[in-house]
Amino acid sequence: MSGSSLDDQLAPLLAERRRQGLYRSPRVMSRRGGARVALDGRVCTAFCSNDYLGLADHPAIAAAAARSAERGVGSSAAHLITGHGPEHAALEEALADFVGRSRALLFSTGYMANMGVINALCGPGDMVFEDRLNHASLLDGGWLCRGEMVRYPHNDLVALEAAMAQQTGRRLVATDGVFSMDGDVAPLAELAAVCARRGGHLMVDDAHGLGVLGPGGAGSVRAAGLDERQVPVYMGTLGKALGTFGAFVAGSEPLIEFLIQRARTYIYTTAPPPPLAAAARAALRLAREEEWRRERLARLIARFRSGAGELGLPLMDSDTPIQPVIVGDADRAMALSRDLLDEGFVVTAIRPPTVPAGTSRLRITLSAAHSEEDIDGLLDAMARRCRGLENDVVTAGSSCP
Ligand SMILES: *Cc1c(COP(=O)(O)O)cnc(C)c1O
Repeated sequence: MSGSSLDDQLAPLLAERRRQGLYRSPRVMSRRGGARVALDGRVCTAFCSNDYLGLADHPAIAAAAARSAERGVGSSAAHLITGHGPEHAALEEALADFVGRSRALLFSTGYMANMGVINALCGPGDMVFEDRLNHASLLDGGWLCRGEMVRYPHNDLVALEAAMAQQTGRRLVATDGVFSMDGDVAPLAELAAVCARRGGHLMVDDAHGLGVLGPGGAGSVRAAGLDERQVPVYMGTLGKALGTFGAFVAGSEPLIEFLIQRARTYIYTTAPPPPLAAAARAALRLAREEEWRRERLARLIARFRSGAGELGLPLMDSDTPIQPVIVGDADRAMALSRDLLDEGFVVTAIRPPTVPAGTSRLRITLSAAHSEEDIDGLLDAMARRCRGLENDVVTAGSSCP
């Protein structure tokens, strides 16, 4: 390779990616209110956002951001320098209250929160146990912390407990609360019990549960009736059901104080813009008070599942707004995604390496911003375009890890 330019080295790698049907490119979509997006001048209905409560374009949230932005956008520095303002402090208090925990600490993104927490809590001599289907940011945190990383088969409590038999330093068990590509909820009570027996500490990434599950949208941990002692580390993101941007970790006073001292992705980065914090606080208020958003979402999920069931489409075992339809082959998933786009619906095809090989899928996500007509329209389009799926992919779906 010496002597060849970087571009010459990358070209065959890109070509290989294309050949495998795994090439990805962002598309420019302008949001047109609710679940509508404009793509190449055409208005379509999106079934792929994480805006589960339909808050992303809420005027009260935009107004809160705009009011704060009148005093400036930049935070000017990291939290520990001069970047931590009254909006950040107020949001941290509101977040702790929302999820029913002692304290919360803001991070710029969920990716950074996961990296920061795992690297602060685990290092050489420690062990991190992770579900195979965990989000990339949890996995990266585990790999980069220089502790020993063990991935256990999806939701396999027996394998986890066996792997934890070995005595070592600190043992952190990290799991998605709601799995981002499958939509199933982790067996949190059972995971907490394994941790209690084996001296482990449970961390839950609730990017897809916060706002959607639990009393007042308090998340999957509260939905499972678990407290701060049983699940010491709770991570939530603000860019999904809360319709804004950013993330936080919530837990005990000592945990938060420790993260302030040791989480490098908290310490060595600029604090988020105050208008974002103001927006997120407005979103929390709406998410808690407007129970109708969760009720409507639940009705839409039930309508989609029963309609898709009648069509014989291979659904996964999910009661959450994430409703994957397993296709199997990556090219076929891409072709179906294009077919549905022809019908006016944006549905993303999810392929390896995001999901295991042979489990490429249409990842359909529902939102309180959808109407019943939107759901019926998508089902009609799938009835026309996804013929044969019910027979072809049953095996791929059922062998999904
Ligand atoms: C989206 C997501 C993240 C990352 O959060 P960002 O704020 O978008 O960086 C982390 N974990 C899970 C499970 C996610 O779905």
